[in-house]
Amino acid sequence: MTLLAPARRRTVTANVGGVLIGSQHPVVVQSMTNTDTANAEATAIQVAQLARAGSELVRVTVNTREAAAALPEIVARLAEVGLSVPIVGDFHYNGHILLREFPEAARLLAKYRINPGNVGAGQHHDANFATMIEVAREFGKPVRIGVNWGSLDQQVLARLMDANAAKGSPKSATDVMIDAMVVSALESARYAEELGLAHDKILISVKVSSAPELWQVYRQLAAECDYPLHLGLTEAGMGMKGMVASSVALAPLLTEGIGDTIRVSLTPEPGASRKLEVEVAQQILQSLGIRQFSPQVTSCPGCGRTTSVFFQELAQKIQDYIRDSMPDWKARYPGVEEMQVAVMGCVVNGPGESKHANIGISLPGTGEDPRAPVYQDGKLLTTLRGPRIAEDFQELMETYVERRYGTNEKAGV
Ligand code: SF4
Repeated sequence: MTLLAPARRRTVTANVGGVLIGSQHPVVVQSMTNTDTANAEATAIQVAQLARAGSELVRVTVNTREAAAALPEIVARLAEVGLSVPIVGDFHYNGHILLREFPEAARLLAKYRINPGNVGAGQHHDANFATMIEVAREFGKPVRIGVNWGSLDQQVLARLMDANAAKGSPKSATDVMIDAMVVSALESARYAEELGLAHDKILISVKVSSAPELWQVYRQLAAECDYPLHLGLTEAGMGMKGMVASSVALAPLLTEGIGDTIRVSLTPEPGASRKLEVEVAQQILQSLGIRQFSPQVTSCPGCGRTTSVFFQELAQKIQDYIRDSMPDWKARYPGVEEMQVAVMGCVVNGPGESKHANIGISLPGTGEDPRAPVYQDGKLLTTLRGPRIAEDFQELMETYVERRYGTNEKAGV
């Protein structure tokens, strides 16, 4: 597969706990916990789950003294199981107090998220913001200036609304809101630099919950600064709606090279795993050809030529087999994530699609000869028959992975 190489517009790289974000570095996947951070055990378990799913940064809310006090235990628990994923602290309203009162938490966090709309009003705004920047400087930490339309700095918005009203042909309220988000983020970033924070210690986000507005605000932001950009649709929603909305919102920007780290803000369905937001973020990047995380399984939708559920079951089994094998494959077979697998329902498009994959199978359609040709690197490898087609195909895939991506072969042994 030819990987798309979007023109990256950012020229600045931020180092977030060893993860490089910006410039030509790969787009980083991140996520956020929904546990009570004060519950160190539950939070460490969820951070581990997210990190193992592929989250390269994990954000936790730091909203109370108890939450800040729990951070050393969270980090220690993760270290006990061999995880050192950078933890980002999400601060609203009292970050200036918590970061000062809990220096160990300030030291352990890899980045502080500051929402300029939630750092206090009036004269307190700048003083509170300055305190957080001072702590960031002291501990050498980057910050994300994270503007959200739901908590936009009302002073900035009012200023821009007044200026707009005085114009001969005023902009729409939405356009002024978007201008205000960009202004709020960039004025805060400039103030942080005036306070001594280095240019490459700043990342920016300006999140809205509508895709067209997200395109508008990020294009504007990308044109006006070179800071690494954290991209995400805020409050994307639940289930399929959230996944589709996030994909639609992020894809155009990512293909334009806008977005250096992404988060998919899904509302989990009751009882569902939080790691879905990581899997969706990875799939967005993989579908765009920007990054590869796992072998891509191409399967046809099936039609009247596949009347049984056998085809769907096979596609599911192969998908599950790959997912379950990936932790081991990733360690033993470098590059395996770029493998392409085809699982097709009949001979109409099956052999053609299978030939384009590294390895592919096409099942017999209704009324066709009950055999399943398997293609490997474009050539017919074998034809499977009988009740164990799924298991036989998994074995062929395992052999292929070992031969193609095994390090012995790569080293010419
Ligand atoms: S490959 Fe065959 S089964 Fe699959 S959608 Fe096409 S015609 Fe239908």
